[in-house]
Amino acid sequence: MRGRHAKVVLASGNAGKLRELANLLAPAAIELRSAADFDIAAPEETGQTFLENALIKARNAAALAGLPAIGDDSGLVVPALGGAPGIYSARFAGADAAAADNNAKLVAALDGVADRRAHFYCALVFLERPGDPAPVVATGTWHGRIVDRPRGSRGFGYDPHFFVPELGATAAELAPEDKNARSHRGVAARALAHELARS
Ligand code: IMP
Repeated sequence: MRGRHAKVVLASGNAGKLRELANLLAPAAIELRSAADFDIAAPEETGQTFLENALIKARNAAALAGLPAIGDDSGLVVPALGGAPGIYSARFAGADAAAADNNAKLVAALDGVADRRAHFYCALVFLERPGDPAPVVATGTWHGRIVDRPRGSRGFGYDPHFFVPELGATAAELAPEDKNARSHRGVAARALAHELARS
């Protein structure tokens, strides 16, 4: 259906995310372009789920770039906190919160809480056009536990507090390729690449 190396806009101006997804999506033979190339302002994320917000972003980017679009949304889900920080992961501690502020708020919220389970979640969607009624959808999860004391200096966001028992390490202690091999985003991107390659 799609030609080889069809242009697709990623509904994000984040260069790191573009690089990472472009690699993971290489098998789908698409040329991923940044939202920044089209001056696309981020839309208001009014959804209640990662999936709804990924669709809102993709629809906005497809409309403004005039290209098929991929939208993504991700964050941390902590069952003991009723799913928080969830879709508010980037701004858990306030509108312009730094990762350190979000992490401090997370650790404080779990003070005295025995249930330390948490998972990262990523939703990725592909829309052929803004009105596409049949998005290609892929999701990924990554399970771990929240630790009070940060470990590691790689990654970003909640990584230093996200401990993966099977590895005996936090996400911030993993090399990028090891994180990609297991992470919510890696799982979702490989699933999306697989779906796009056969559509
Ligand atoms: P977004 O998907 O760019 O909207 O990111 C949402 C927020 O979720 C980020 O700002 C981080 O706080 C958090 N997050 C998403 N993925 C990761 C991850 O792989 N490691 C750490 N934090 C993450």
